[in-house]
Amino acid sequence: MVPEQTLNLSGKVALITGSAVGIGRASALALGKQGAFVGINYHSSKDAAQSLYKELATQKIKCLLLPADLTNEAETKGAVEKLVKEAGRLDILVNNSGGLVKRAKIEECSLETWSRSLELNATTAFLVTKHAIPHLRATGSGRIINLLSLSVQTGGANGAGAYAAGKGALMVFTHTLAKELAPHVRTNSIMPGTVETQHHEIHSTPEMLENYRKQTPLGRNTMAEEVASAVLFLASDMSSHINGALIDISGGRFLR
Ligand code: NAD
Repeated sequence: MVPEQTLNLSGKVALITGSAVGIGRASALALGKQGAFVGINYHSSKDAAQSLYKELATQKIKCLLLPADLTNEAETKGAVEKLVKEAGRLDILVNNSGGLVKRAKIEECSLETWSRSLELNATTAFLVTKHAIPHLRATGSGRIINLLSLSVQTGGANGAGAYAAGKGALMVFTHTLAKELAPHVRTNSIMPGTVETQHHEIHSTPEMLENYRKQTPLGRNTMAEEVASAVLFLASDMSSHINGALIDISGGRFLR
């Protein structure tokens, strides 16, 4: 039977990694507004996570703070178990945590930067997913959404090669899960272009951002809320027969 084609997430429980800021924060709000119980994972951004908690609570959205460094397996497992204990189940996993460690062309890239890039962008998702799978499968219709990057197509601009490699591993991981976990869990990924979050405040100059804008047929960079809308679509029954897909949200910057 075809599930009802709706965005409604009432009764569902979502874990969004690295959700104190940026795309993760916008996704927490988008899923929560559709009725999901939101697990707010954060590592270093405690104040921002508490502020999101208050905002969700004000809107009567059920949520739970889940501090954990997702490169640490014990902390990661603990966060998943804490959410399931409190909320009773886990339906949706958004693998959003990640980041660009440092801009460096490959011949100047240290082993430390390379390894940390893979750890932050691929290993974190592996660890959370591994411990979330039994719970997602138990629901009979779990959903995983992985946050990739346009760099998986471009190879990474301006010294973002190690970051691109981490996201490339996450793309392959998406394909693996889409096969291994079906039909009980659907796994998809999103490939944002340039989203104006603290990621770019730290790693890009105003000139670089302007340059990315000029390369975009829609004439501007992406907003976090626009990525969150795709997260919501993939988390809902509106995407009930989408599995292993890659949604490009770059305003047309990458044209196949
Ligand atoms: P961001 O840097 O604002 O947020 C990333 C989050 O991940 C932060 O909350 C950070 O604390 C968290 N995180 C990092 N390491 C962690 C760890 N070990 N344990 C737990 N949490 C950890 O990034 P954003 O711009 O909101 O991007 C969100 C995701 O989308 C990231 O994976 C990023 O690589 C990806 N992305 C961003 C853009 C962009 O232009 N901003 C483009 C493509 C992809």
